[in-house]
Amino acid sequence: MELDRIAVIGSGNWGSVAARLAATNARRLPCFQDEVRVWVYEERLSTGELLSDVINMTQENVKYLPNVKLGPNVVADPNLESAVKNATMLVFVMPHQFIDETCEMLKGKIRPDAKAISLIKGMELRDEGPRLISREINDQLGIDCSVLMGANIANEIAVEQFSEATIGFKDDKETADKWVQVFGTPYFEVTPVQDVEGVELCGTLKNIVAIAAGLVDGLGMGNNTKAAIMRIGLREMIRFSKLMFPTVQDATFFESCGVADLITTCFGGRNRKVAEAFAKHGGKRSFDELEGELLNGQKLQGVLTAAEVSSFLKAKNWEESFPLFSSVHAIATGLLPPSAIVEYAELRKIVG
Ligand code: NAD
Ligand code: 13P
Repeated sequence: MELDRIAVIGSGNWGSVAARLAATNARRLPCFQDEVRVWVYEERLSTGELLSDVINMTQENVKYLPNVKLGPNVVADPNLESAVKNATMLVFVMPHQFIDETCEMLKGKIRPDAKAISLIKGMELRDEGPRLISREINDQLGIDCSVLMGANIANEIAVEQFSEATIGFKDDKETADKWVQVFGTPYFEVTPVQDVEGVELCGTLKNIVAIAAGLVDGLGMGNNTKAAIMRIGLREMIRFSKLMFPTVQDATFFESCGVADLITTCFGGRNRKVAEAFAKHGGKRSFDELEGELLNGQKLQGVLTAAEVSSFLKAKNWEESFPLFSSVHAIATGLLPPSAIVEYAELRKIVG
Protein backbone atom coordinates (compact mmCIF):
# COMPACT_ATOMS: atom_id res chain seq x y z
CA MET A 1 0.00 0.00 0.00
CA GLU A 2 1.19 3.51 -0.82
CA LEU A 3 2.42 5.45 2.17
CA ASP A 4 0.92 8.91 2.72
CA ARG A 5 3.20 11.85 2.15
CA ILE A 6 2.61 15.03 4.17
CA ALA A 7 3.39 18.56 2.97
CA VAL A 8 2.93 21.67 5.08
CA ILE A 9 2.16 24.85 3.15
CA GLY A 10 3.30 27.72 5.35
CA SER A 11 6.05 28.10 7.93
CA GLY A 12 5.11 30.86 10.35
CA ASN A 13 4.72 30.40 14.09
CA TRP A 14 1.85 27.88 13.97
CA GLY A 15 2.99 26.46 10.64
CA SER A 16 6.31 25.48 12.22
CA VAL A 17 4.60 23.81 15.16
CA ALA A 18 2.20 21.99 12.82
CA ALA A 19 5.21 20.73 10.86
CA ARG A 20 6.84 19.56 14.08
CA LEU A 21 3.72 17.61 15.12
CA ALA A 22 3.34 16.04 11.66
CA ALA A 23 7.04 15.17 11.51
CA THR A 24 6.87 13.42 14.90
CA ASN A 25 4.00 11.26 13.67
CA ALA A 26 5.56 10.68 10.25
CA ARG A 27 8.62 9.20 12.02
CA ARG A 28 6.51 7.18 14.44
CA LEU A 29 3.73 5.74 12.27
CA PRO A 30 4.34 3.28 9.44
CA CYS A 31 1.47 4.63 7.29
CA PHE A 32 3.44 7.83 6.53
CA GLN A 33 6.55 8.56 4.51
CA ASP A 34 9.24 9.84 6.82
CA GLU A 35 9.97 13.14 5.10
CA VAL A 36 7.69 16.13 5.73
CA ARG A 37 8.28 18.99 3.31
CA VAL A 38 7.41 22.49 4.39
CA TRP A 39 6.91 25.34 1.96
CA VAL A 40 8.77 28.38 3.21
CA TYR A 41 7.80 31.80 1.90
CA GLU A 42 11.43 32.73 1.38
CA GLU A 43 13.01 35.70 3.08
CA ARG A 44 16.48 36.96 3.85
CA LEU A 45 17.28 37.21 7.53
CA SER A 46 19.14 40.14 9.08
CA THR A 47 22.26 37.91 9.03
CA GLY A 48 22.04 37.81 5.22
CA GLU A 49 21.15 34.09 5.19
CA LEU A 50 18.02 32.63 3.57
CA LEU A 51 15.44 31.39 6.04
CA SER A 52 14.99 28.02 4.30
CA ASP A 53 18.77 27.37 4.35
CA VAL A 54 18.93 28.11 8.06
CA ILE A 55 15.97 25.82 8.80
CA ASN A 56 17.63 23.00 6.88
CA MET A 57 20.97 23.56 8.58
CA THR A 58 19.70 23.94 12.14
CA GLN A 59 16.25 22.24 12.11
CA GLU A 60 14.97 25.47 13.63
CA ASN A 61 12.76 28.20 12.26
CA VAL A 62 14.93 30.86 13.82
CA LYS A 63 12.58 33.70 12.89
CA TYR A 64 9.09 32.36 13.61
CA LEU A 65 9.76 29.63 16.21
CA PRO A 66 13.24 30.10 17.67
CA ASN A 67 14.84 27.57 20.02
CA VAL A 68 12.59 24.67 19.04
CA LYS A 69 13.87 21.76 16.92
CA LEU A 70 11.39 20.86 14.19
CA GLY A 71 12.68 17.31 13.68
CA PRO A 72 15.32 15.61 11.51
CA ASN A 73 12.74 14.64 8.85
CA VAL A 74 11.52 18.20 8.19
CA VAL A 75 12.77 19.67 4.90
CA ALA A 76 12.24 23.37 4.26
CA ASP A 77 11.54 24.08 0.59
CA PRO A 78 11.15 27.59 -0.85
CA ASN A 79 9.74 26.12 -4.09
CA LEU A 80 6.00 25.55 -3.74
CA GLU A 81 5.81 23.07 -6.60
CA SER A 82 8.51 20.76 -5.27
CA ALA A 83 7.25 21.17 -1.69
CA VAL A 84 3.90 19.59 -2.60
CA LYS A 85 5.17 17.09 -5.20
CA ASN A 86 3.58 13.66 -4.66
CA ALA A 87 2.04 14.76 -1.37
CA THR A 88 -1.22 13.02 -0.49
CA MET A 89 -1.92 15.12 2.61
CA LEU A 90 -1.69 18.91 2.35
CA VAL A 91 -1.68 21.06 5.47
CA PHE A 92 -2.54 24.71 4.75
CA VAL A 93 -1.29 27.08 7.44
CA MET A 94 -0.59 30.72 6.61
CA PRO A 95 -2.17 34.11 7.30
CA HIS A 96 -5.49 33.99 5.47
CA GLN A 97 -4.74 37.01 3.26
CA PHE A 98 -2.25 34.88 1.30
CA ILE A 99 -4.40 31.82 0.59
CA ASP A 100 -5.88 33.06 -2.67
CA GLU A 101 -2.52 33.68 -4.37
CA THR A 102 -1.10 30.45 -2.95
CA CYS A 103 -4.00 28.37 -4.32
CA GLU A 104 -3.51 30.05 -7.70
CA MET A 105 0.14 28.93 -7.69
CA LEU A 106 -0.86 25.39 -6.68
CA LYS A 107 -3.29 24.83 -9.54
CA GLY A 108 -2.20 21.83 -11.60
CA LYS A 109 0.71 21.15 -9.21
CA ILE A 110 -0.97 18.87 -6.67
CA ARG A 111 -2.19 15.30 -6.85
CA PRO A 112 -5.90 15.27 -7.72
CA ASP A 113 -6.53 12.66 -4.99
CA ALA A 114 -4.75 14.70 -2.29
CA LYS A 115 -6.63 15.53 0.93
CA ALA A 116 -6.32 18.95 2.51
CA ILE A 117 -6.72 20.42 5.95
CA SER A 118 -6.76 24.11 6.80
CA LEU A 119 -5.34 25.43 10.08
CA ILE A 120 -6.05 28.96 8.87
CA LYS A 121 -8.27 31.25 10.93
CA GLY A 122 -9.87 33.82 8.66
CA MET A 123 -12.18 34.42 5.72
CA GLU A 124 -11.95 35.55 2.11
CA LEU A 125 -14.13 38.46 1.11
CA ARG A 126 -16.05 37.73 -2.09
CA ASP A 127 -18.79 39.68 -3.91
CA GLU A 128 -21.38 37.25 -2.60
CA GLY A 129 -20.09 37.65 0.98
CA PRO A 130 -17.35 36.12 3.11
CA ARG A 131 -16.15 32.69 2.09
CA LEU A 132 -14.54 30.18 4.44
CA ILE A 133 -10.95 29.25 3.69
CA SER A 134 -11.72 25.51 3.53
CA ARG A 135 -14.28 26.28 0.82
CA GLU A 136 -11.78 28.47 -1.01
CA ILE A 137 -9.25 25.61 -1.06
CA ASN A 138 -11.97 23.15 -2.05
CA ASP A 139 -13.27 25.34 -4.87
CA GLN A 140 -9.92 26.50 -6.22
CA LEU A 141 -8.15 23.15 -6.12
CA GLY A 142 -11.02 20.69 -6.32
CA ILE A 143 -9.93 18.71 -3.26
CA ASP A 144 -11.69 17.83 -0.01
CA CYS A 145 -10.67 20.17 2.82
CA SER A 146 -11.15 19.60 6.56
CA VAL A 147 -10.13 22.11 9.25
CA LEU A 148 -8.22 21.99 12.51
CA MET A 149 -8.94 24.72 15.06
CA GLY A 150 -8.59 24.94 18.83
CA ALA A 151 -7.12 26.61 21.87
CA ASN A 152 -3.70 26.43 20.30
CA ILE A 153 -1.20 29.14 21.12
CA ALA A 154 1.63 27.77 19.01
CA ASN A 155 4.50 28.54 21.39
CA GLU A 156 2.89 26.45 24.14
CA ILE A 157 2.37 23.40 21.91
CA ALA A 158 5.94 23.80 20.66
CA VAL A 159 7.16 23.02 24.20
CA GLU A 160 4.67 20.17 24.51
CA GLN A 161 2.27 21.63 27.05
CA PHE A 162 -1.02 19.71 27.05
CA SER A 163 -3.57 21.19 24.63
CA GLU A 164 -6.66 20.09 22.71
CA ALA A 165 -7.87 20.74 19.19
CA THR A 166 -10.92 20.03 17.06
CA ILE A 167 -10.97 18.70 13.52
CA GLY A 168 -14.03 19.71 11.53
CA PHE A 169 -14.92 17.44 8.64
CA LYS A 170 -17.77 17.31 6.14
CA ASP A 171 -18.59 13.64 5.62
CA ASP A 172 -15.36 11.69 5.25
CA LYS A 173 -14.73 10.30 8.75
CA GLU A 174 -11.94 8.04 7.51
CA THR A 175 -9.91 11.03 6.34
CA ALA A 176 -10.69 12.90 9.57
CA ASP A 177 -9.22 9.96 11.50
CA LYS A 178 -6.14 10.10 9.29
CA TRP A 179 -5.72 13.76 10.18
CA VAL A 180 -5.95 12.80 13.86
CA GLN A 181 -2.98 10.49 13.20
CA VAL A 182 -1.06 13.34 11.54
CA PHE A 183 -1.45 15.75 14.46
CA GLY A 184 -2.42 13.85 17.62
CA THR A 185 0.14 13.23 20.34
CA PRO A 186 -0.20 12.51 24.06
CA TYR A 187 0.14 16.27 24.70
CA PHE A 188 -2.05 17.32 21.74
CA GLU A 189 -5.47 15.71 21.95
CA VAL A 190 -7.41 16.01 18.71
CA THR A 191 -11.15 15.32 18.40
CA PRO A 192 -12.99 15.10 15.06
CA VAL A 193 -16.50 16.55 14.74
CA GLN A 194 -18.75 16.52 11.70
CA ASP A 195 -19.31 20.28 11.46
CA VAL A 196 -16.65 21.80 9.24
CA GLU A 197 -18.33 25.23 9.03
CA GLY A 198 -19.01 25.46 12.76
CA VAL A 199 -15.41 24.58 13.68
CA GLU A 200 -13.94 27.01 11.14
CA LEU A 201 -16.25 29.87 12.06
CA CYS A 202 -15.31 29.48 15.74
CA GLY A 203 -11.61 29.77 14.93
CA THR A 204 -12.19 32.68 12.58
CA LEU A 205 -14.61 34.82 14.58
CA LYS A 206 -12.90 34.52 17.95
CA ASN A 207 -10.09 36.68 16.55
CA ILE A 208 -12.49 39.64 16.40
CA VAL A 209 -13.45 39.07 20.04
CA ALA A 210 -9.75 38.84 20.93
CA ILE A 211 -9.24 42.33 19.50
CA ALA A 212 -12.07 43.56 21.73
CA ALA A 213 -10.50 41.82 24.76
CA GLY A 214 -7.16 43.48 24.01
CA LEU A 215 -8.82 46.89 23.80
CA VAL A 216 -10.34 46.29 27.24
CA ASP A 217 -6.88 45.40 28.59
CA GLY A 218 -5.34 48.49 27.02
CA LEU A 219 -8.04 50.69 28.53
CA GLY A 220 -7.05 49.35 31.95
CA MET A 221 -10.41 47.72 32.62
CA GLY A 222 -10.74 44.65 34.81
CA ASN A 223 -11.77 41.01 34.62
CA ASN A 224 -15.52 41.60 34.81
CA THR A 225 -15.42 43.84 31.75
CA LYS A 226 -13.30 41.38 29.82
CA ALA A 227 -15.62 38.49 30.76
CA ALA A 228 -18.62 40.55 29.61
CA ILE A 229 -16.95 41.31 26.28
CA MET A 230 -16.11 37.62 25.82
CA ARG A 231 -19.68 36.58 26.60
CA ILE A 232 -21.16 39.14 24.21
CA GLY A 233 -18.59 38.12 21.61
CA LEU A 234 -19.45 34.45 21.97
CA ARG A 235 -23.12 35.27 21.52
CA GLU A 236 -22.30 37.10 18.28
CA MET A 237 -20.08 34.23 17.13
CA ILE A 238 -22.97 31.80 17.56
CA ARG A 239 -25.51 34.12 15.95
CA PHE A 240 -23.31 34.90 12.95
CA SER A 241 -22.33 31.26 12.41
CA LYS A 242 -25.92 30.10 12.41
CA LEU A 243 -27.02 32.87 10.09
CA MET A 244 -24.34 31.90 7.61
CA PHE A 245 -24.78 28.15 8.03
CA PRO A 246 -27.98 26.98 9.76
CA THR A 247 -26.42 23.50 10.03
CA VAL A 248 -23.83 24.71 12.59
CA GLN A 249 -24.28 22.75 15.82
CA ASP A 250 -24.47 24.23 19.34
CA ALA A 251 -22.19 21.47 20.66
CA THR A 252 -19.33 22.73 18.46
CA PHE A 253 -19.04 25.90 20.56
CA PHE A 254 -18.16 23.70 23.57
CA GLU A 255 -15.33 21.91 21.79
CA SER A 256 -11.75 23.18 21.96
CA CYS A 257 -12.36 25.25 18.82
CA GLY A 258 -15.13 27.19 20.58
CA VAL A 259 -15.09 28.49 24.14
CA ALA A 260 -11.59 27.18 24.86
CA ASP A 261 -9.98 28.98 21.91
CA LEU A 262 -11.90 32.13 22.78
CA ILE A 263 -10.46 32.05 26.31
CA THR A 264 -6.86 31.35 25.36
CA THR A 265 -6.78 33.96 22.58
CA CYS A 266 -8.41 36.66 24.71
CA PHE A 267 -5.72 36.11 27.36
CA GLY A 268 -2.60 35.07 25.47
CA GLY A 269 -2.88 35.75 21.74
CA ARG A 270 -1.26 38.18 19.32
CA ASN A 271 -4.57 39.84 18.42
CA ARG A 272 -5.04 40.68 22.08
CA LYS A 273 -1.48 41.95 22.43
CA VAL A 274 -1.60 44.34 19.48
CA ALA A 275 -5.10 45.58 20.39
CA GLU A 276 -3.89 46.35 23.91
CA ALA A 277 -1.08 48.49 22.47
CA PHE A 278 -3.56 50.18 20.09
CA ALA A 279 -5.79 51.21 23.01
CA LYS A 280 -2.80 52.31 25.11
CA HIS A 281 -1.85 54.67 22.26
CA GLY A 282 -5.42 55.99 22.21
CA GLY A 283 -5.98 54.64 18.69
CA LYS A 284 -3.40 57.11 17.34
CA ARG A 285 -1.06 54.44 15.92
CA SER A 286 -2.42 52.00 13.35
CA PHE A 287 -2.78 48.25 13.83
CA ASP A 288 -0.45 47.71 10.86
CA GLU A 289 2.27 49.82 12.42
CA LEU A 290 1.93 48.13 15.82
CA GLU A 291 1.81 44.66 14.24
CA GLY A 292 5.10 45.40 12.48
CA GLU A 293 6.66 46.69 15.69
CA LEU A 294 5.44 43.97 18.07
CA LEU A 295 5.23 40.75 16.03
CA ASN A 296 8.48 40.51 14.03
CA GLY A 297 6.81 39.39 10.79
CA GLN A 298 3.96 37.42 12.37
CA LYS A 299 0.47 38.50 11.36
CA LEU A 300 -2.77 39.02 13.22
CA GLN A 301 -6.06 38.07 11.63
CA GLY A 302 -8.71 39.79 13.75
CA VAL A 303 -8.60 43.25 12.15
CA LEU A 304 -9.00 41.89 8.61
CA THR A 305 -11.68 39.47 9.72
CA ALA A 306 -13.60 42.29 11.41
CA ALA A 307 -13.46 44.23 8.13
CA GLU A 308 -14.64 41.22 6.13
CA VAL A 309 -17.48 40.44 8.53
CA SER A 310 -18.48 44.12 8.78
CA SER A 311 -18.79 44.59 5.06
CA PHE A 312 -21.05 41.54 4.94
CA LEU A 313 -23.15 42.81 7.89
CA LYS A 314 -23.49 46.21 6.24
CA ALA A 315 -24.62 44.67 2.95
CA LYS A 316 -27.25 42.66 4.81
CA ASN A 317 -28.22 45.54 7.10
CA TRP A 318 -27.45 43.33 10.12
CA GLU A 319 -25.00 45.62 11.93
CA GLU A 320 -27.28 46.35 14.85
CA SER A 321 -27.50 42.67 15.69
CA PHE A 322 -23.70 42.53 15.93
CA PRO A 323 -22.62 45.56 17.97
CA LEU A 324 -19.35 44.04 19.14
CA PHE A 325 -18.15 42.87 15.72
CA SER A 326 -19.19 46.22 14.22
CA SER A 327 -17.51 48.24 17.01
CA VAL A 328 -14.22 46.40 16.58
CA HIS A 329 -14.15 47.33 12.90
CA ALA A 330 -15.18 50.94 13.56
CA ILE A 331 -12.46 51.27 16.22
CA ALA A 332 -9.76 49.62 14.11
CA THR A 333 -10.49 52.02 11.24
CA GLY A 334 -10.52 55.11 13.49
CA LEU A 335 -14.26 55.80 13.18
CA LEU A 336 -14.68 55.32 16.93
CA PRO A 337 -12.24 55.65 19.85
CA PRO A 338 -11.04 52.48 21.64
CA SER A 339 -13.35 53.25 24.59
CA ALA A 340 -16.35 52.64 22.30
CA ILE A 341 -15.81 48.92 22.80
CA VAL A 342 -17.84 49.25 26.00
CA GLU A 343 -20.15 52.00 24.75
CA TYR A 344 -22.61 50.47 22.35
CA ALA A 345 -24.63 53.67 22.35
CA GLU A 346 -21.81 55.17 20.28
CA LEU A 347 -22.09 52.38 17.78
CA ARG A 348 -25.81 52.82 17.42
CA LYS A 349 -25.10 56.43 16.36
CA ILE A 350 -23.08 55.25 13.36
CA VAL A 351 -25.12 52.26 12.39
CA GLY A 352 -28.32 54.21 12.81
P1 NAD B 1 2.72 33.90 11.36
O1 NAD B 1 1.78 34.99 11.59
O2 NAD B 1 3.61 33.50 12.47
O3 NAD B 1 3.72 34.23 10.18
C1 NAD B 1 3.42 34.93 9.03
C2 NAD B 1 3.77 34.01 7.88
O4 NAD B 1 3.32 34.58 6.65
C3 NAD B 1 5.28 33.76 7.71
O5 NAD B 1 5.50 32.38 7.52
C4 NAD B 1 5.61 34.53 6.44
O6 NAD B 1 6.68 33.96 5.73
C5 NAD B 1 4.32 34.33 5.67
N1 NAD B 1 4.11 35.23 4.55
C6 NAD B 1 4.39 36.54 4.43
N2 NAD B 1 4.04 36.99 3.20
C7 NAD B 1 3.53 35.92 2.54
C8 NAD B 1 2.98 35.72 1.23
N3 NAD B 1 2.86 36.74 0.37
N4 NAD B 1 2.54 34.49 0.91
C9 NAD B 1 2.61 33.46 1.76
N5 NAD B 1 3.12 33.58 3.01
C10 NAD B 1 3.57 34.79 3.38
O7 NAD B 1 1.92 32.60 10.81
P2 NAD B 1 1.16 31.48 11.67
O8 NAD B 1 1.20 31.76 13.14
O9 NAD B 1 1.68 30.17 11.22
O10 NAD B 1 -0.37 31.71 11.25
C11 NAD B 1 -0.97 31.01 10.20
C12 NAD B 1 -2.42 30.78 10.53
O11 NAD B 1 -2.52 29.99 11.72
C13 NAD B 1 -3.24 32.05 10.80
O12 NAD B 1 -4.51 31.92 10.20
C14 NAD B 1 -3.41 32.05 12.32
O13 NAD B 1 -4.61 32.66 12.73
C15 NAD B 1 -3.44 30.55 12.60
N6 NAD B 1 -3.09 30.16 13.97
C16 NAD B 1 -2.00 30.68 14.57
C17 NAD B 1 -1.67 30.26 15.86
C18 NAD B 1 -0.48 30.80 16.60
O14 NAD B 1 -0.42 30.65 17.82
N7 NAD B 1 0.50 31.37 15.91
C19 NAD B 1 -2.46 29.32 16.50
C20 NAD B 1 -3.57 28.80 15.84
C21 NAD B 1 -3.87 29.23 14.57
P1 13P C 1 -3.49 34.87 17.86
O1 13P C 1 -3.38 34.88 16.38
O2 13P C 1 -4.29 35.99 18.43
O3 13P C 1 -2.15 34.73 18.53
O4 13P C 1 -4.30 33.55 18.26
C1 13P C 1 -3.69 32.32 18.15
C2 13P C 1 -4.72 31.27 18.19
O5 13P C 1 -5.52 31.19 17.29
C3 13P C 1 -4.73 30.38 19.37
O6 13P C 1 -5.64 29.33 19.23
